[in-house]
Amino acid sequence: MPFTLDPLPYPYEALEPHIDTMTMQIHHDKHHQAYVNNLNAALAGHEADTWDIEKILTQLDKIPEDKRTAVRNNGGGHHNHSLFWEILTPGGSNVPGGDLKDAIDKSFGSFDNLKAELTKAGSTRFGSGWAWLVLKSDKSLSVISTPNQDSPLMDGLRPILGIDVWEHAYYLKYQNRRPDYLAAIFNVINWDKVGELYAKYSK
Ligand code: MN
Repeated sequence: MPFTLDPLPYPYEALEPHIDTMTMQIHHDKHHQAYVNNLNAALAGHEADTWDIEKILTQLDKIPEDKRTAVRNNGGGHHNHSLFWEILTPGGSNVPGGDLKDAIDKSFGSFDNLKAELTKAGSTRFGSGWAWLVLKSDKSLSVISTPNQDSPLMDGLRPILGIDVWEHAYYLKYQNRRPDYLAAIFNVINWDKVGELYAKYSK
């Protein structure tokens, strides 16, 4: 099978009390694993099973029509969650610095304005989906949201921060209170990692 699930890069309890241990266990070991398994099943026997995940997500039109929805949902789920685990703590600064800070100030006016835009994008996404900080083709920053497991890559945008607003990301601790989860998650974003991704893709 071409795709495998990497272990979480820190202990399940590392994001307590903002994201609880059981949510992290189920989210990573069950939900993310299911996306990987379902992606592999959908790609079995197709040449795309040797492609990397970004090639798949940017060339969904090359996937046979009867497999395309499964590949879109589960390939998106795999890529989105791989980024999500990476940009959470431990370690790292809890505020943006360096070139990323400058870019945020230029695009949004301030870090507080960016947080407000991400919070709005996450709270107004009806049903399941994601809020994103993305790089556009002109390298400027923007905040968007996507439904389901759609990736910004599908629209030619480069995600450098993703906030999962599926209920499975917060329901055990926050139940229906998505705004409380969105407020808490800013305590566990690793802005050094986001800054590394900004540096990598803004060149
Ligand atoms: Mn999720």
